[in-house]
Amino acid sequence: MTLGPSRRDRLVEVFNEARECMRCPLAETRTKVVFGAGNADADLMFVGEAPGAEEDRRGLPFVGRAGGLLTELLGGIGMNREDVFIANVLKCRPPGNRDPQPAEIEACSPYLHKQVELIQPKVVGTLGNFATKLLTGSRTGITKVRGTTQVHVLGGRAVYIMPLLHPAAALRTPSLVDTLKEDFAKFPELLATPSPQEVEDARRAGEPELAVGVGSDDLDQLDLLG
Ligand code: URA
Repeated sequence: MTLGPSRRDRLVEVFNEARECMRCPLAETRTKVVFGAGNADADLMFVGEAPGAEEDRRGLPFVGRAGGLLTELLGGIGMNREDVFIANVLKCRPPGNRDPQPAEIEACSPYLHKQVELIQPKVVGTLGNFATKLLTGSRTGITKVRGTTQVHVLGGRAVYIMPLLHPAAALRTPSLVDTLKEDFAKFPELLATPSPQEVEDARRAGEPELAVGVGSDDLDQLDLLG
């Protein structure tokens, strides 16, 4: 049985809804809705902040300079953009690339949650403060939490969240590229580990051996799932 086509089809349905979205005033200033792009069956999903000028023009995420760095970082761990799904907290560009506003995030986040629910990634890399704070539900800044795996329930499933610096920050401060490389280097092992949901399902089925490889802090967090 392959889930691919139907998952993709359901994502396309959400895209068709989002491309007509009028839920916030960004609808009036956007050129194109930037829904997200990549592999609907990806184990690894990235969530950025919001489209910039180039993304708004082309309707695709991370196709400007920050996107170039993201592609390079993926290449550094033997992956490419077709292996992952890339989305943003906001699907429309804030004028002048200003920060997303709370009302915009609230209006737009159902699309992101639906994407996570349909794609069912094992690992979500949150790029920068806005994605990290939204998906971890914590107000702690990205410089404190970057590079440390968290476990959260997203889209009804337990997933790993890897908070990362935003690539645009590394374009402004080149020394941060090494920090990003260091954190990206953690993805291969994380992707090879059973997902938190698999560990939890195995625990419930009385097969705790799957838990090998998952840190005890992660398991403590899984216990919170009830
Ligand atoms: N920055 C983001 O956060 N998202 C994009 O799509 C491009 C740049």
